[in-house]
Amino acid sequence: MIDYRLDYKSKIYPNIDLKNRNKVSKPDINSITNKKAKTLSKKTDLMLPLIASGAVAAGLLLVGLAARKKISSTTLKNVIQKPNNLEENLWKNLDFKKADTIEDAASYAKDVLGIKNFNLENDLQTANWVNEGLTNLQNIYKGKFKMPDAVSFLTSKRLQDSPMAIMSFPNSELRSLVINKDFLKSTESLEHIKTLLKGLEEKGAIAFSNGKYKFSILSRDRYKPLFENLAELKKGTKNFSPLEINYMAKGLDDYTNMCYYPNVYKDAFENLFKDASKMKKIKDKIPDFPDTEKIRKMSIDEMGNLIDNIYKKTGITLDCQYGIHSFNKFDMLYHEGGHLLHEKLIPSAYFKYHNPVVKGSVPENASKELLDFLNDSRKQEIAGRISSYAKHSPLEFVAETHIGLCNGYKFSDDIMELYKSYGGPIPPV
Ligand SMILES: [Zn+2]
Repeated sequence: MIDYRLDYKSKIYPNIDLKNRNKVSKPDINSITNKKAKTLSKKTDLMLPLIASGAVAAGLLLVGLAARKKISSTTLKNVIQKPNNLEENLWKNLDFKKADTIEDAASYAKDVLGIKNFNLENDLQTANWVNEGLTNLQNIYKGKFKMPDAVSFLTSKRLQDSPMAIMSFPNSELRSLVINKDFLKSTESLEHIKTLLKGLEEKGAIAFSNGKYKFSILSRDRYKPLFENLAELKKGTKNFSPLEINYMAKGLDDYTNMCYYPNVYKDAFENLFKDASKMKKIKDKIPDFPDTEKIRKMSIDEMGNLIDNIYKKTGITLDCQYGIHSFNKFDMLYHEGGHLLHEKLIPSAYFKYHNPVVKGSVPENASKELLDFLNDSRKQEIAGRISSYAKHSPLEFVAETHIGLCNGYKFSDDIMELYKSYGGPIPPV
């Protein structure tokens, strides 16, 4: 086994200038620079770091599935490989029930999901989580998901600081989903969360009162489950698995970054003004809709309120959702599942889209396709709207976007065009 595709764990603190900031609700937009998180320059030949994304609130999947209806058929048209409608129509969703023993979990993985080799030792919690997430993917793809051939643990010795990975074998079709066993014991993400929360609280970006977090930022609905879970974590009223905690840390990273990149909102409004049909709809429903000048002078909170109002009255969403985190506890598996399907769809081009070095660096023998993605500011901007990790390579862009598609997000046309250009997998409607 020499060919790894690893998922990258978010452990780098956003290098944001907290010193000069007051409250997030009243940012001085023009003074903020788009500072990038510090990056590692470590390079390995064998390790090909890929993803990062994970877990949180149980029960959110239902919301995600219901929300899938939001994906319009026109957006999806021409993207999915011609589905076999008959088979898809006949597909009946698998009904997942948590196994009570590790043997039952392994049998389910083998007999129902078709995973040839399933060995998660005695870890029933992780086994159930993997099985449930993979079951969801099979249901989302109406029976056409590409399952990993094996599921197993590895240690940090092999996986370094990645929580999960898809590992491929040279000259073999076999693909393994590997989970970092050491990672399950780590308290690093918890420490990271504490540090970020402390910083955000000190700067007035969030406040904890009456057992709840009050936070101020656009797309607040999207961050609601995160802060609900963080409040439970702080109070100690709910137990979270290490993978869930890692995912919360990553979500909080993105939230923190987002707090300090208010240009996102300005850009989103600028794009909106260019869209005549959307503008017409908005002006019909909101007669006193402010002009560009007024919007540019608004605070983040005011822009946030306006965006909420637009959505409430017209159903129109703006392209300002940095990070696609749904805080679905299976998002990490949806990311990895995206890699599996993506490779199946474009086996010969797949590795040209891969960046085999750690986040923030470029390999010496980078492919033309990778360089094009990294050097094209427009592509980087589009990927950045998905998540910071999506900017690492076309493969990560696809996998990160895939999380959103599995959760029913509808992305703007430019995001979908780029996704399609790399042959990313799209769940059938
Ligand atoms: Zn990945």
